This record gives sequence, structure tokens and C-alpha cells, in this order.
Amino acid sequence: MALIVQKYGGTSVANPERIRNVARRVARYKAMGHQIVVVVSAMSGETNRLLGLAKELMAEPDPRELDMIVSTGEQVTIGMTALALIELGIKAKSYTGAQVKILTDDAHTKARILNIDQHNLKADLDAGYVCVVAGFQGVDIDGNITTLGRGGSDTTGVALAAALNADECQIYTDVDGVYTTDPRMVPEARRLKSITFEEMLELASQGSKVLQIRSVEFAGKYKVKLRVLSSFEEEGDGTLITFEEDGKETNMEEPIISGIAFNRDEAKVTVLGVPDKPGIAYQILGPVADANIDVDMIIQNVGADGTTDFTFTVHKNELNKALNILRDKVQGHIGAREISGDDKIAKVSVVGVGMRSHVGIASKMFRTLAEEGINIQMISTSEIKIAVVIDEKYLELAVRVLHKAFELEEA
Ligand code: ADP
Ligand code: ASP
Ligand code: MG
Repeated sequence: MALIVQKYGGTSVANPERIRNVARRVARYKAMGHQIVVVVSAMSGETNRLLGLAKELMAEPDPRELDMIVSTGEQVTIGMTALALIELGIKAKSYTGAQVKILTDDAHTKARILNIDQHNLKADLDAGYVCVVAGFQGVDIDGNITTLGRGGSDTTGVALAAALNADECQIYTDVDGVYTTDPRMVPEARRLKSITFEEMLELASQGSKVLQIRSVEFAGKYKVKLRVLSSFEEEGDGTLITFEEDGKETNMEEPIISGIAFNRDEAKVTVLGVPDKPGIAYQILGPVADANIDVDMIIQNVGADGTTDFTFTVHKNELNKALNILRDKVQGHIGAREISGDDKIAKVSVVGVGMRSHVGIASKMFRTLAEEGINIQMISTSEIKIAVVIDEKYLELAVRVLHKAFELEEA
């Protein structure tokens, strides 16, 4: 007997028939004698609908109230899934994040999980129940409902698997595994049988939505056995996330590049004509960080006239907030000439552990983009990743040509 956490995404619970389908799979696993915790997302499109409703009343909704609204999507699907299971004769019980006691910090709309009380779930599992838990939501120390950021149900799933010491966490979605790139953009993309945890972390952090980055972080920290699978197919092994000790990384056959990620959600902030002196980066980014705005790429160019141009990227949703902070609190203070924003950008990243032992990956990437006349606006690298910011309108072309250049397509 194993303890398995199964997480089902929005398309997998999009309507009662699909929910019934989820219940049938859960029933099969239960019949094998396993204990099952099910985590569900809201029905596909529902979170966006709820966000839209809130924005009709307030352009930048109050975060606490927004969480109150958007967390309801998952409350519907847990009840529905529990009903579908009960209808099949299986003992099942639904739980909101607060009922489990998924304790988070109070950073509404992007809260972090601090602790999960596993007692309630354990007791019900031992009593033979399937526990159906709402993804994406938690509760802060004062009892306020919080949400974990878009795609956060993945994180609920993996965090529960860690807290319960589950044997496996299965992420069921609308594709049958992790591909070399988003198969919706590049139909020639190939499913990976396995991918290292580090590569998955980079892909997720660079925008590949198949797993939310925090779920991958949890898997790494607690060594959760994590697999991505299709909820529409009965068979198939999906993609297993592997860890170094599994020995997979020493495989000489491993390709140099494992995947390409892209992200349309970032925007660029440029601060022009800043005096070039110590402390400037801190004076610009300090107030941005204080407002809890995540900064991704950063570049600074020193010009001949002793001033510097400072550019960084933030999430598109936070562009206006960042610009307002800089214009109100920073520009006059540091004597910057101009502050501007650009949300027509996209980021493309190639990722692979093979980069550690091979040279020339960056030049191949840059040459491939140059041959298509695509201008690179920013570059950042890690040991296993090269990321570039380009004009949004070239995104699809860039991903396709890179996928081909690195020979990632189906053999
Ligand atoms: P869910 O609602 O099940 O959480 P998501 O839409 O969040 O599903 O994530 C699955 C989607 O991720 C796929 O439909 C696919 O378009 C996208 N995706 C992006 N990059 C990849 C990749 N490398 N491999 C597989 N899917 C990817
Ligand atoms: N329903 C939430 C979202 O759409 C969480 C999730 O699906 O993982 O982002
Ligand atoms: Mg998702």
C-alpha cells in the first residue's frame, strides 16, 4: 500500500463528465489498496473569470479581497470531486486549505506555504477516506484566506506530498508529460521520459507553465517523487523528475539541451541617465523589493558621460506599480533622466545540464536568432541556462528556430 497525492489541473476538472473521469481513476488506485489525496484546481477558465469580475469593480483589486474571490473556484471542484467519488461508492471528503490548515504567510495573491498540519488528513486516510483538497489556497495566521500565485495547485500537491511523506506525487494535466518545449507552440516537441530536478526548476522559473516553480522547489527540498502525466490517457508513464543521486545526470547520451522555455509575462523597466556611483542599484531596487515586487533580469550599462542606464524585468502585472514607485520615490532622489516601461517583450531560455560540459551553446543560440534578424535586448545566464529578452512579436519564431537548431524535435 502506498500513499499517493494526485493533482488534477483545470482542464481535467473542466466539467462534471471530466470530474467523473477523475473519480474513476482515483477509484482504480483505491482499489489497488492505496491511500489517495486528491488536489484539484478550479475548472479551467474559472480563475480568470473570477479575476475579471473583481477587476470590474476595482482596476487593481485589494489583494485580501481578491484572494477571497479567486479561491472560490477550487471550493466548487473539491465538492464536485468528492460527490463524484461518493457516487462511485467511495468514502470521500473535501477540504479547503483552511480546513487542512495549510498555513501560509500573508502575502496575498502570492503567499508561501509555511506549514501543513497533516493530522486531519492522516486520520481520515487511515479511516479509509479519499481526501480531496483545494489547490492554490491556504490560510494565514490570522485566518485570512490566501492564494499561492497562478498555477499554485501544483504547489499544494507537492507540499502535501512532502508533509504526508507520500510515496509519489502525480500531476495530471492536459499533456502527457514534460516536453522539450510547449507542444502547443511547437508540435514537433518531444516528450521527455525524465528530466533532472535542476532542469525542471530552470524551465519552470523561465516560464514553462507545466509545473509551478514553487512545486519544483518543494519537490527538490523534500525529495518528493514527482511525475507529470496526462489525465486523459489511461496508460503512459509521463515524465519523472529525477534527482542527482538517481545517477541520471552522468548518462553520456543525455542531450546538451533538454528544453526551451518562454515567458510572455514579463515587462522591462528602464532607468536612464543615472549617476554612476556606489549604492545606485540598491537605491533603485530597494524600494521595488520593499513593495514585494519580484525582479528577474537586471542589466546596467555605463555610458561614456559617467551616467549609467539601468534595466530590469518584473511581472507585467506589477509594471505600473514598479513605475509609480520609481517615479514617486526614486527618480528625483537619484537624479535619473527618464524612467520608462515596455511590456511588449518576451523571454526565451534554453536549458540543459549538458551546458556544464559543452562550450558554444550561447554562440549557437545567438547565431540562430541573428540569422532570423531577431534582436536580443537582454541576456542572462546560469550554469545550465541561457535566457534572452526579445521583442514579443518574434517569440514564436525564436522558439521554433531554436528548437530546430538544438535538434530537439521528434526523431
Ligand atoms: P493544468 O491546468 O493542468 O495545471 P497548465 O495549463 O497549468 O495545466 O499546464 C499544462 C500546459 O503547460 C500544457 O497544456 C502546455 O501547453 C504547457 N507547457 C508549457 N511548457 C511545456 C512543456 N515544456 N511541456 C509540457 N507542457 C508545457
Ligand atoms: N486555479 C488556479 C489558477 O488558475 C490555480 C491552478 O490552477 O493551479 O492559476
Ligand atoms: Mg497549472
